[in-house]
Amino acid sequence: MEKITVYGKHDSSSAYIIRDFLKRSLVHFDWVPVETLDTLKPLFPGQVADDAQLPIVALPEHQLLFNPTVEDIACKLGWISEPKHTEYDVSIFGAGPAGLSAAVYAASEGLSTVLVEREAIGGQAGTSSRIENYLGFPNGISGSELAERARQQAVKFGVDILLVRRSMKAEFIGGKLHVDLVGGNKLIAKSNISATGVEYTRLDLPDENRFLNLGIYYGAGASEALLCANQHVFVVGGGNSAGQSALNFCKHARKVTMVVRGNDLASSLSYYLLTRIQKKKKIEVLYNSAITELHGETTLEGITVTNTLTGLNSGYITKFVFVCIGGKPNTNWARNTAIVRDEAGYLVTGGDLMKAPFNSRWKNSFVPAFLETSVPGCFAAGDVRFNSVKRVASAVGEGAMAVTLVHRYLHENY
Ligand SMILES: Cc1cc2nc3c(=O)[nH]c(=O)nc-3n(C[C@H](O)[C@H](O)[C@H](O)COP(=O)(O)OP(=O)(O)OC[C@H]3O[C@@H](n4cnc5c(N)ncnc54)[C@H](O)[C@@H]3O)c2cc1C
Repeated sequence: MEKITVYGKHDSSSAYIIRDFLKRSLVHFDWVPVETLDTLKPLFPGQVADDAQLPIVALPEHQLLFNPTVEDIACKLGWISEPKHTEYDVSIFGAGPAGLSAAVYAASEGLSTVLVEREAIGGQAGTSSRIENYLGFPNGISGSELAERARQQAVKFGVDILLVRRSMKAEFIGGKLHVDLVGGNKLIAKSNISATGVEYTRLDLPDENRFLNLGIYYGAGASEALLCANQHVFVVGGGNSAGQSALNFCKHARKVTMVVRGNDLASSLSYYLLTRIQKKKKIEVLYNSAITELHGETTLEGITVTNTLTGLNSGYITKFVFVCIGGKPNTNWARNTAIVRDEAGYLVTGGDLMKAPFNSRWKNSFVPAFLETSVPGCFAAGDVRFNSVKRVASAVGEGAMAVTLVHRYLHENY
């Protein structure tokens, strides 16, 4: 395929979203930052008149998209396909490591399988520049490459992949999942695996999208630690993931600064982590503090931290900020169903449904399998699951295991 070119203002977040989507989808493209429309007019005579048309995506065969959404681009690239069947053995929602793994195992074992992803293939893992702790890749692998390999495997086994598609409404009718997709398609499946993962809480700063993965990283960033050798690294948050992250970075970084909203760590951090952090001379903690500005041209170069009590601003030079202020599971779709979620929205499965505080809501007569939710035949895998281990390997493992449980469910019920 001819190369795609994206033209846009260098600080445009819509251009970033397009670049991020193409990068995560392993599409080769050129990025051309433009200062004024005058530079584009000779390239596209008579077609560019207004800033609102930016960003522009130039596709092969002289097709131009003005200020497109990623859906528009995916559609033009022929990635938005229609479901081939009206009913599937299993529908899988979310194409992160858990969903991709489930799709590969399900289709390779003969189940008619549809995989629905609202954004790009790869999920959170797809945003990781290098995953170094996944078995079999001693030199690490980028998240998007891992995801692309899994996508190829899924396609090889005949999975129907519906990209950039979201569900509008999900309901269980006669034991089957009925889903209305945005755009008009309807899916029916005898069983379902929810692998919709987690979305990390954002800092909500104006330039955040621009620096996403260019200095601002979500999660503990385990794979980035080595890249931070001799750097001044900032970790935002005061919970266990932030504490673990700070300890991890402190092995390689010159200095680690934790930016904490509260006035102590004891209330949010496990005691063992707190004592370790207190012993590390390299770790500094800024209490009552928040990052209020991000600075840099194309990548992050510095930040402003504001003391929320005094209002005093301090500037720091840094290329690395890791945001560990928790996440929200992507389970809005389940809010009007009988699926039990915990307070934060995670899907409760298996034995946890029988324990307090969830057992008071347990009205069913069946005993749920390990990854089964409170709705029979509806399974959860990966980060979206209550009490899950937030790792690529565990998400992949749970995706595979969920398929075994689907087989058992289908055998017993159909
Ligand atoms: C920057 C970063 C680096 C990381 N590095 C490592 C590492 O080095 N090693 C490691 O083990 N772990 C790492 N992790 C954690 C790891 O990526 C996650 O544990 C893993 O991706 C979880 O996989 P998942 O499939 O459960 O969920 P996710 O990866 O969150 O994928 C869920 C997918 O579901 C989609 N989705 C959500 N809602 C819907 C819906 N309604 N319909 C359709 N699709 C939907 C989302 O768009 C997403 O693609 C990292 C995480 C991040 C953010």
